[in-house]
Parts: sequence; C-alpha cells; structure tokens
Amino acid sequence: MPDATIIGSGPNGLASAIRLAQEGLSVTIYEKADTIGGGTRTRELTQPGFKHDICSAIHPMAKASPFLKSLPLEDYGLAWIQPDVPVAHPLDEQSAAALFRSLDRTVEHLGRDGKKYRKLVGTLLNSWEKLSTDILAPFSLTPSHPLLMARFGLQALRSAEGLAKRFTTPKGRALFAGLAGHGMLSFNKTASAGIPLVLGISAHKVGWPLPKGGSHAITKAMAAYFESLGGTIKTGTEIHTVDQLPDSKTVFFNTTPNQILSIAGDKLSQKYSNKLRRYQHGCGVFKLDLALSEPIPWKDSICRRAGTVHVGGTFKEIASSEAATNSGRHPEKPYVLVAQQSLFDDSRAPSGKHTCWAYCHVPNGANKDMTNPILNQIERFAPGFRDCIIAQHAMNTVAMETYNPNYIGGDINGGKQDITQLFTRPAGLFDPYHIPETNFYICSSSTPPGGGVHGMCGYHAAGSALRQEFSNQ
Ligand SMILES: Cc1cc2nc3c(=O)[nH]c(=O)nc-3n(C[C@H](O)[C@H](O)[C@H](O)COP(=O)(O)OP(=O)(O)OC[C@H]3O[C@@H](n4cnc5c(N)ncnc54)[C@H](O)[C@@H]3O)c2cc1C
Repeated sequence: MPDATIIGSGPNGLASAIRLAQEGLSVTIYEKADTIGGGTRTRELTQPGFKHDICSAIHPMAKASPFLKSLPLEDYGLAWIQPDVPVAHPLDEQSAAALFRSLDRTVEHLGRDGKKYRKLVGTLLNSWEKLSTDILAPFSLTPSHPLLMARFGLQALRSAEGLAKRFTTPKGRALFAGLAGHGMLSFNKTASAGIPLVLGISAHKVGWPLPKGGSHAITKAMAAYFESLGGTIKTGTEIHTVDQLPDSKTVFFNTTPNQILSIAGDKLSQKYSNKLRRYQHGCGVFKLDLALSEPIPWKDSICRRAGTVHVGGTFKEIASSEAATNSGRHPEKPYVLVAQQSLFDDSRAPSGKHTCWAYCHVPNGANKDMTNPILNQIERFAPGFRDCIIAQHAMNTVAMETYNPNYIGGDINGGKQDITQLFTRPAGLFDPYHIPETNFYICSSSTPPGGGVHGMCGYHAAGSALRQEFSNQ
C-alpha cells in the first residue's frame, strides 16, 4: 500500500510529495491536467515562440520559502533571473516610483517618505530569515521568534489604509498601494497591511525574481527532484472520488474545500463539512497575455528596467479599484499588475519581440471582458503601447476556473485572505492541514500561509501527517 496519494501537482502538492519522499515514504501524485504544475505553467498562448506564464510570473515567495530554498532545484534546471528593478510604479504628473534591491537606494528615491520607509521595513528586514519561518507557517501560540512576530504583527494586522498614513508623498503612497493591491482586499480591512509589508521586505531581501524559461521551471525542477527520490506522477488523471484511488495510508488534497467536499464529502463529519461549506472565496482575476513587436514603451524609463510594473496611478485610485472589486463592481480604471519577463529572459519571445503578462482583479465569478480597461491603463503610462500588440490571449474568471479547478470564481489564492481566514483557512486554527477523523490532509493554498508559489502549505501539511501517521516508522 502506498504511504501517500496526492491529488494535484501544484507547487504545494509537490512540496508535500517531496517532504514525504525525503523521509523514504512511497508517494504518488495524480494530476488532472496533461502537464504538472498547477499555477506555474508556461505556454505559447498567443503565437509560436512567445512563452507566456499562464498564472504565476514573479516569485519573491518562492525565493524566500524556507522549504524551496532547502531543495537542490538548481541541479534540476531552475535558474533565477533578478530584474534590475523589482517593481516600478508609473504616475501621471511626475516620475515613477520604484522599489530597488538596495534599501538605501529606495530610501533615497522616496525623498521625504524615505526615512519612514526605512523605519517600517528596515528593522524587519534585518530579521527576515527568522521572521519568514514564522510568517510562512500556521498560527502558533508559541512562534519561534515571539518578539519579532509581535513587532511584525503590530503593523501587519493594521489596515493598508491605516499603515499608509505615515507616507505623505504621492510616490510613497502609490508605491505602498501597489504592494497592498496584491492582497486583493479592500484597503480598510484589518490585516490588509500584512501583504505589502512582506512584499516590500522581500524585494530587498530576496528580490522579485523570475525563473529562466518561465514559471513552469519551478515545478518541473520540483517534479524531477521528487522523481529522483522514487516518487511517481500520473498526469491526465482527474480524481472525482477518493474511491477511485488505490488504498493508501494518507491522502493529500492539493485542492480547495469545494473539491474536497465533492471528492470525499461522504467521508467527512457533518461538522467539518459545514465548516468547509462556509469557506469564502475572494475576488477573481481577468488575465491578458500579449505578444509584442517591441518592449512596452513606458514614458518613464525606470519602468523599462522593472520586472513588475504596478499600473493604477495614485493610492486613492488603487484603493478605489480594490474597494470596487471587493463590493462586486468592475472598476473603470482597474489596478493592473504587469510583468515583462522577456526584457530579462530572451528565451521568452522570438528575437527582438516581447511578451506582456497582465491581470486585474474583478468580482468573484465575473465574466466581463476587461481587455480594454487593462490596455487603456497601460497605454496611459506607455503611449503607443497598443500599436506594439501582435496577438493577445484573454482569460476571464470562468476560463481561469476551467483551466484550473482550484481557481473558484477566478480566486487565485485558494480562498479569501482576510483576517478571519488568514490563519483558520480552511476550517481550524490549530493543525488546519488535517481533516479530523480521517487520514486526509489538505496541502493547497487554502491552508496557511495561503496563496503564492512557496510550497509552504504543502510542507506543513506533510509535517502534520509525518507527526500523526508515520512517527512510529
Ligand atoms: C493569473 C495568476 C497570477 C499569479 N501570479 C503569481 C505570482 O506572480 N507569484 C506567485 O507566487 N503566485 C502567483 N499566483 C498564485 C499561484 O499560482 C498559486 O497561489 C499557487 O499556484 C497555488 O499552488 P497550489 O499548489 O496550492 O495549487 P495549484 O497551483 O492551483 O495546483 C493545484 C493542482 O491540482 C490539480 N487538481 C485540482 N483538482 C484536481 C482533481 N480533482 N484531480 C487531479 N488534479 C486536480 C490542478 O489541475 C492543479 O494542477 C498567480 C495565480 C494566477 C492565476
């Protein structure tokens, strides 16, 4: 009998698989799609030779992940590229804001807000190695570094709006808004300051890198390492019910609660099923991939040196865009996340040509075409941009969920990441990975620490199973 069966081969499914296989356990992964990788696949979506990241593109969390860092992924083909500037943020009436790898350079660039930025980020930055093990973990009453966590928590548990009040320049405020937008929450929500803090710190500590060849390189390397440990992966196999699986000591779900209910609902207690039914999903995304005849012609040259560009203007505009999507409306001027991988990786497009990866947030389940609002926002800061488009490929929330059933209503984080679900996702504070009274474990981003490519949900889920099911082996 295999020790573990894993449903889904996203970065978290693979992380669980690797941790178990490292302990000498026999593990098989079943993946619905024909290729492994979940939210980390790269494909020629527009024209031959243009390699687009279908989902994730930029990877501060993978680079910061204590587990991924410990694996020999470079030996299995993963190579990181660090763009010159991690993030740029164009503005209408003045020069763009930017985050640099160097904290000093960023402080200098932010002028009057520089000192406040150093005060906010600098002290936490120095302790990042220790802090990240507690942040990228489930809730604990006894974190490894309680004082540091308390210091981080005091700021992170605030609203993004509240924390941003310390910044007074349009640049400082806009830059913070661009980071906060990644959280997909209204900026007045408690704990919406956590994501911008972590992303800001990581820009200086580990950068915002991209994998050479595309984000698929991350999970391809993980899968190759897993197979080198004796693991098995079966692609093209959708699991509809656990009865379809061979008997196994443990089953891991690299899926959301919705799919757990449909695949194994009859094996769960009523109480637990009810909790899963109450689990909430956040906003969806509308994604656009473009093949370009030349790089995006940003007005401000610093944007041409950045891997990621936050497009949405001022703090007020971005806050209003996020408030709209969170209350079920489509913003006219959406906050758009842009990545320009081909500027730094010439394997992504034919010689001289480029790719553009862009998405904006929309209400969960919405099917409105946001192509024009996205293009208008980029054109606003890069006149002539539309003339560079050779081909385009769009995905609304329905296409997203069809592509990957974990994206319920287009939610890319496996569930809303607000204060109520941040630590308790999906159904409990302590050991959220284990499904009570079963040998089932949840290892997807619907568990702490949530969305992003870092594998830490999978790592902790495997840890839970190792303690409970395999400690006597
Ligand atoms: C547009 C977009 C942009 C993003 N950008 C970034 C970014 O830049 N950086 C970043 O860190 N993160 C980003 N993310 C988020 C990131 O991709 C996810 O948080 C991450 O992939 C979650 O990993 P996971 O292993 O939990 O699940 P997933 O990656 O979703 O993998 C789940 C896997 O399970 C499979 N599966 C589901 N149900 C079944 C079944 N019944 N049977 C068999 N297999 C099944 C799916 O096919 C899938 O392969 C982005 C996501 C999207 C969509």
